[in-house]
Amino acid sequence: MTKKVEYLQGSDLDLLICHTCKKVCHRALNDCDRCGTKLRDRDHSSIQKAWALLITAAIMLVPANYYPISIITKQGKETEDTIFTGILHTIDLGMIPIAIILFIASILVPWLKILGLITYLSAISFNLPLPKRVLMKGFHIIEWIGRWSMLDLCVISLTVALVNMGQLLDAQAGPAATPFALVILFTQLAAKVLDTRLLWDKVETEHDSKRNA
Ligand SMILES: [Zn+2]
Repeated sequence: MTKKVEYLQGSDLDLLICHTCKKVCHRALNDCDRCGTKLRDRDHSSIQKAWALLITAAIMLVPANYYPISIITKQGKETEDTIFTGILHTIDLGMIPIAIILFIASILVPWLKILGLITYLSAISFNLPLPKRVLMKGFHIIEWIGRWSMLDLCVISLTVALVNMGQLLDAQAGPAATPFALVILFTQLAAKVLDTRLLWDKVETEHDSKRNA
């Protein structure tokens, strides 16, 4: 099957991208002619690395949601809040917009990211028939949205800093703060480490074939 020019891949033209400086070089060159980095074809081991990071992130979700993420001591009485009860307390206090931000940043975003990455990695590993364009769009959204999930930790650190200025209240980040930060870090790394070009090579759906025909 001859490919239309607009659907040609770099590898069809013997072109490879330099991973360091992003210059497109000819396959015949062993090293990038601009920065000297060794040119590599697809990084197949990146799927395993991304799966490993993603599974670690999924495991970290358990302690992140189970243990308290904030501990507030008020007049000698300690109140511990998990991510979920913290959101409920915020609603009780009538701070609905903050509750919405907390819900999006600490529950919706991490779960969507993990589910999205599982779909994406499964599509490559098991050759699932999903259209490439939809997957690529989803992947860019996952990458973009990820940076906002640190918002929750930002809220906790601000609370700790502000509350500790008074003498009667004491606020501390709970044991769930570390696994939560790790969930964000590992999902972000999983998205970064993956060689997205593998998607273009492996997943060929009917939808894509029609476009290429
Ligand atoms: Zn280079």
